[in-house]
Amino acid sequence: MNFENKEYDAKFKELISSAFDSGRLPHAIILEGANASKRLEAASLLAKALVCKESEKSLRPCGKCPDCIKAESDSHVDIKTVIGTNKSKTVSVEDIRNVRSDAYVVPNEAERKVYIITSAHKMNETAMNAFLKVLEEPPSYVNFILECEDKAMLLQTVKSRCASFRLGDLTDDSVTKKKLEASFENAVKIAKAISSDSEIEMMKTLGMFEKDKDALKLALEEVILILRDSIALKSGAVNCLSQNEDVAKEIASSMTSEKIIKATEIVNDTLQSMQYYANHNLLLARLSSRLKD
Ligand SMILES: [Zn+2]
Repeated sequence: MNFENKEYDAKFKELISSAFDSGRLPHAIILEGANASKRLEAASLLAKALVCKESEKSLRPCGKCPDCIKAESDSHVDIKTVIGTNKSKTVSVEDIRNVRSDAYVVPNEAERKVYIITSAHKMNETAMNAFLKVLEEPPSYVNFILECEDKAMLLQTVKSRCASFRLGDLTDDSVTKKKLEASFENAVKIAKAISSDSEIEMMKTLGMFEKDKDALKLALEEVILILRDSIALKSGAVNCLSQNEDVAKEIASSMTSEKIIKATEIVNDTLQSMQYYANHNLLLARLSSRLKD
């Protein structure tokens, strides 16, 4: 993936690139982040990359092919940016119904058809439920990009059908890169502890994060991807999103799907509730005991 000269944090770029360049970008993704214009910019860039005709995936969008040029001027027929048609610009059930029927019409010019659902967090429950049907079994040529402020505002059923990518804050990239590398290593340790039977192993591993809440958060985000991969591997997919395919394979062979799903829920839960926990060590203890329950 070519990010042109646009600036995104290192983790986002790394995750998107690795999924896109290997052709494993899931058909539905959530782009979350606090900055609305940055989200829309990233969604448009990704849409452009998806319709681009350049053969080398890591160079998409090339910026030169006819598809890129049309996408650049917002006139590509196969990229649909869905903005609510009502006064509040909230994507409604009507808008989603239109998307649903349009999605079954094959793309015109590109090989893929991309829908950018803007401010997806503002959709009401009826609209999200209406979206589920096409999210479950989308036509093979369709990609959905849901841009939203916080994926916690989406229905669980919607979230579970999408891979999510977070647009982080732009800080010093070298610091981010170091933190990112550390988070991959930490995630492997946690994932291995999850697949092991030892409660002590789990306590020891989580004990490393006693003084570092941020490191725990980054690591857990990666753990989610590893667990997700292991479920995908179990069901025969080759759809690895994490950087740690080996660990995902290890988990897939040592744990049942039910256990992996349960662990995913616990980790997800912990990530969501982290900000509300004043006592970080209590959170670690609770996480450890829930994972080994
Ligand atoms: Zn192109």
